[in-house]
Amino acid sequence: MIRLELAGGHTRLHATLCSACPQGPTGCCASPPGVEWSDIGKIVSLGGAGWLLEQMAAGNLRPGRRGLLLLRVAPEGSGGQALPKRCVFHGPEGCTIPPSRRAATCNYYVCDDAFAHGGELRGNAEALAGRRAHDTLVELYGAWDIELADRISASWPDGPPWDRGFLDWLGREYDRGAAKAAARLAALSPG
Ligand code: SF4
Ligand code: SF4
Repeated sequence: MIRLELAGGHTRLHATLCSACPQGPTGCCASPPGVEWSDIGKIVSLGGAGWLLEQMAAGNLRPGRRGLLLLRVAPEGSGGQALPKRCVFHGPEGCTIPPSRRAATCNYYVCDDAFAHGGELRGNAEALAGRRAHDTLVELYGAWDIELADRISASWPDGPPWDRGFLDWLGREYDRGAAKAAARLAALSPG
């Protein structure tokens, strides 16, 4: 089953297959996505600038070419065994941070297997709506990332300063992009 939780650019998708993920108990969180420019802007727009700076200082997030990279760690209690690494924010009950602090991908992505399990190929309405929401968000966040990458490399050819001012700029840019896409995001808003 697929469940779609509409919230504009913060829309979330849930899939029952995830609780018995064919990839293993850690599911997608074994290979966390990047926290890309638009994701950083989204997190800042939701009040998370200070949190991002704290996580960078703690080493859980580190600068990369397209934004921030999530630290991958061996699971707690592995007792020195070589268990597969996973996202630093993954715990025994799943993700330990709220959706407002996650990359958008963490909120809207489910894999093709999960869509198929949820009935996409049988025409299940929630699965089909979920697929449409997923595709819209992939397109919007992808376009925002391309635009932001161009502007960042033009303004900071040696890399951005990673200070509060830069994060706040990304937050404003996210809000600007979301306002421009208001009509498309409205289709992802509840009733
Ligand atoms: S989306 Fe797919 S790969 Fe990711 S946790 Fe769910 S079932 Fe596993
Ligand atoms: S932030 Fe949460 S949902 Fe995203 S990869 Fe890490 S544990 Fe998984």
